[in-house]
Amino acid sequence: MSLLDIDRVTLKFGGLTAVKDLSFAVEEGQVFALVGPNGAGKSTVFNLISRFYTPAAGAIRFAGQDLLRLHPHQVPARGIARTFQNIELFHQATVLQNLLVGRHRHRRAGLAAQLLHLPSMRAEERAHRLAVEEVIDFLDLQPYRDARIAGLPYGVRKVVELGRALASKPRMLLLDEPASGLSVEETQNMRWWIDDIRRQMGITVLMVEHDMGLVGKVSDRVLALADGARLAEGTPAEVQAHPAVIAAYLGT
Ligand code: ADP
Ligand code: MG
Repeated sequence: MSLLDIDRVTLKFGGLTAVKDLSFAVEEGQVFALVGPNGAGKSTVFNLISRFYTPAAGAIRFAGQDLLRLHPHQVPARGIARTFQNIELFHQATVLQNLLVGRHRHRRAGLAAQLLHLPSMRAEERAHRLAVEEVIDFLDLQPYRDARIAGLPYGVRKVVELGRALASKPRMLLLDEPASGLSVEETQNMRWWIDDIRRQMGITVLMVEHDMGLVGKVSDRVLALADGARLAEGTPAEVQAHPAVIAAYLGT
């Protein structure tokens, strides 16, 4: 059984079919990349998995369970975390505070316990802090720990967004263009982190990425889309050499 199973999914926005009868499967432990020209439907696939959109047809299963039965707010609790193509962080809050938001799915103590500062609550808070400090260490965010997002460079915000998703300790991470807007050096760091996220943390990664250099280095499997439909699937080398993929990128 695959960890994520997209089965003949179609999604329409009015007259536009953004995703067309699309099927693919991500195996546990893989780094799987979605590539394709702008408007191909890549972010829409993420929004379908996140349950922001409901498909007109098809099924989406995660760990054998029907994801389409869930509300969007229930998806993170199943172990799926994501980043956004346009970074979505709390700009007036600090790095640490933003990462603590990523712990949301693990919060158990009710409001009463929080207000009364019960011992059970204090123990839970400590556990969250520890999990977040681990992420801060892993991503080398110590220098920015108490800085507000609003004052940070783009490249650092991008890492914080990855951190917020990681803080939830997901089983699968959806990364929407993790290297877009990053410098060569920042992209190199992103590459090592994605490798470690898979190898050390055992997290399955589904990513959308335009940087084919990065895709080739970190991915086990690549699916190329155009106009919401499958063009080719295989290893990075197979997909890059596929005539339909070359034609789509050259716009012929
Ligand atoms: P990609 O991420 O591959 O660049 P998207 O998934 O964002 O592409 O978009 C796929 C297509 O669906 C595009 O034509 C886009 O304009 C359209 N689209 C995306 N989101 C919406 C929406 N919320 N409403 C209407 N059309 C949308
Ligand atoms: Mg996109």
